[in-house]
Amino acid sequence: MRALITGVTGQDGAYLSKLLLDKGYDVDGLSPRHSTLNTWRLEEMGICDHPSFTLFVGDITCPASINFHVKVGGYDEIYNLGAMTFVAESFNSPIATMHINGLGSVNILEAIKNHSPKTRFYQASTSEMFGNTGGMLNEDSPMIPVSPYGIAKLYAHHMVKYYREHHGIHASAGILFNHESPYRGIEFVSRKICDGVAQIKAGKIDHIELGNLDACRDWGYAGDYVKAMWLMLRQDTPDDYVIATGETRSINYFLGRAFDNADIDMCGRIKTNDVFKRKSDVHILCGDAAKAGKKLGWVPTAGIDTLIKIMMDAEMERHEVGR
Ligand code: GDP
Repeated sequence: MRALITGVTGQDGAYLSKLLLDKGYDVDGLSPRHSTLNTWRLEEMGICDHPSFTLFVGDITCPASINFHVKVGGYDEIYNLGAMTFVAESFNSPIATMHINGLGSVNILEAIKNHSPKTRFYQASTSEMFGNTGGMLNEDSPMIPVSPYGIAKLYAHHMVKYYREHHGIHASAGILFNHESPYRGIEFVSRKICDGVAQIKAGKIDHIELGNLDACRDWGYAGDYVKAMWLMLRQDTPDDYVIATGETRSINYFLGRAFDNADIDMCGRIKTNDVFKRKSDVHILCGDAAKAGKKLGWVPTAGIDTLIKIMMDAEMERHEVGR
């Protein structure tokens, strides 16, 4: 089996590469030139040196680049993880966000339709598409996004359905709720908190500055979530699936557990700063992954407390502090 992963240098790209290489795939990774400098995850996971892995420079916003790779690659599967992934940044860069997260996906779907129609396609859709719909969210819940990130992703989500229904492409979308790991980007709140707490433990800083502490997220472990991507492409019929744990917790809860893990009193260690508050935020997200459980046999192995422990262990090691 041959697979192409766009956005391969990110958290999910690294975990998915590892999963596919372990299953005996040949994996090509695609990354824009500026991101190919950012290979620390691939290096730490031993992917860069794997004989079945090749990293290519290529940009999903450039149809010529994508056409070339899809045409010559002979891929059985393409996983589109290439995106501007940080919601907060999308408020400052709405046009670039649409180019990458929206049109980038369509460039790949067009290339598949024209040059490799048997290739199976996975789209990284997101819980951010729901906006403030609220409740237990499943594949049929209303989607009313409140950020340029979510709006661009929703456009791509609909296009996946269009290529599936009108062009017969085997294209599936995973509506993934927040998923974290020690390889999460430092700008995301989960890693920012764990890194900050470990730095406090190491005596490097004395507090952490954050934005909206009341927001609630359904946080899972990224290693579990990439398995769901692979399972979606094993199905005879392409479809959309919510991938989530079904449990939602606030930033405040995450903070409490992270400080507990380091055995530090949280009192006086958190300051709020408006810089980290968003123009519009999603207040609460909680996903119902029953369909993925039933059809894919997918279940998450790690809940929130296990996830925080995994992340805190890694950050304490990075900052060389014991408990
Ligand atoms: P997102 O759900 O994909 O936007 O993931 P993030 O980790 O970036 O943000 C999750 C939630 O944490 C959002 O509601 C943010 O407003 C909230 N939050 C509070 N303080 C911070 C912060 O300092 N950084 C980030 N990234 N998010 C914060």
